[in-house]
Amino acid sequence: MKRKKFLLDENDVPRQWYNIQAEMPNKPMPPLNPATHKPLHADDLAHIFNQECSRQELDQEHAWIDIPDEVRDKYCYYRATPLVRAYALEKALDTKAHIYFKNESTNPLGSHKINSALPQCYYCKQEGDTNVTTETGAGQWGAALSYAAKLYGLEAAVYQVKITMQQKPYRSMIMRTFGATVEGSPSMSTRAGKNIITADPNHPGSLGTAISEAIELATTTPGCKYTLGSVLNHVALHQTVIGLEAEKQMEMAGEYPDEVIACFGGGSNFGGIAFPFMRHVFDGTHKDTKFIAAEPNSCPKLTRGKFEYDFGDEAGYTPLLPMFTLGHDFKPANIHAGGLRYHGAGVIISQLLKDGYLAGMDIPQLESFAAGVLFAQTEGIIPAPESCHAIAATIREAKRANVEGKAPVILFNLSGHGLIDMPSYMSYINGDLANYTVTDDEIEKNLEKVPLTIDK
Ligand SMILES: *Cc1c(COP(=O)(O)O)cnc(C)c1O
Repeated sequence: MKRKKFLLDENDVPRQWYNIQAEMPNKPMPPLNPATHKPLHADDLAHIFNQECSRQELDQEHAWIDIPDEVRDKYCYYRATPLVRAYALEKALDTKAHIYFKNESTNPLGSHKINSALPQCYYCKQEGDTNVTTETGAGQWGAALSYAAKLYGLEAAVYQVKITMQQKPYRSMIMRTFGATVEGSPSMSTRAGKNIITADPNHPGSLGTAISEAIELATTTPGCKYTLGSVLNHVALHQTVIGLEAEKQMEMAGEYPDEVIACFGGGSNFGGIAFPFMRHVFDGTHKDTKFIAAEPNSCPKLTRGKFEYDFGDEAGYTPLLPMFTLGHDFKPANIHAGGLRYHGAGVIISQLLKDGYLAGMDIPQLESFAAGVLFAQTEGIIPAPESCHAIAATIREAKRANVEGKAPVILFNLSGHGLIDMPSYMSYINGDLANYTVTDDEIEKNLEKVPLTIDK
């Protein structure tokens, strides 16, 4: 009988994360203080983030970082996750390619984000913090953080974009079920929020307003730390449990991927599955593996952005980060893959992209949903709108292989399920969705506002 699923024992859940910074040929450039343009150190970050994550963020020395036992115990509530051979999808595509996916949708929160929420909350607790705060747009990160905070006995305050909160009430109810306080942003609970509401009483909120409020709360409340669900190096580090497990599981299948594919918002699930395999490019044992990051073509920072120092957030509160960016206040079209509507790429991935270790692939919204529907009808899982981009890229690669008469082994990451995104599928199935493109002019104009250009 052909084997469908490759399952690991709890014993095989990784005991260390892989820190690619220690082994990449060119190290990422340092984050800079926006006022002085001086490189930042871990201490500069530690008044916002917990100390251990601040250290991990800038660690270019240790390739392997121990996963604390208390975090690994909680990982075992839902890990290891299955590696699955997508026979039915292969058949529908009439391809000789072998398609595997790592299924990060099996935990009840529905996405990979819990892999970083757990260690972030654990370190806060260890360091004596009592509260955590964050912003959330689509709501996946807020849900993961709310649950992780509860497990480690922390209070969580989540600022959710007000308009999303009204449009998707289930999302805030998930967070409140886990015991978090959820505020629609802009709110009256912070000075930043009050100022925004005074200027515009009907402000619908944005990730920018929510970030400002969460950072204000963290910096003005003793014992409260800010947390982030993507983009930063330590978040991608925590996500490497995905690729480390997948490596063992591909071995069980007797194969090694020729191509590794994931969707791309800020880069955490892509880094999570790709970095462990990329180390074999660096050490020369599998130097031809191809890495593809699938982004929406309405937010094309990898394929059409520029490598510059830019803010990590719309409002300009964060340090300057060396990143492929569309400009920090780029306003992407309101596509349903909310988790991919981010203007820049994390600094590790930006450096790796610059050095040619991965390629971006931009996917139109309608193609992403067509891929998601085919995946649902073959493999029986309704993917998150974000994950649909990885599936669409996989399908393109399989079709290309058919034309070229090849049979590559393709591994993609299924970052989450779409069961709380059914309004998005409703719009697609009813024919109400459109593609959005960005003109070179719009991108060029928006990049004029980048705070510091990098000499190339
Ligand atoms: C948040 C999210 C993403 C995008 O974030 P990355 O940091 O790029 O991984 C992708 N898929 C799902 C399901 C998400 O919730």
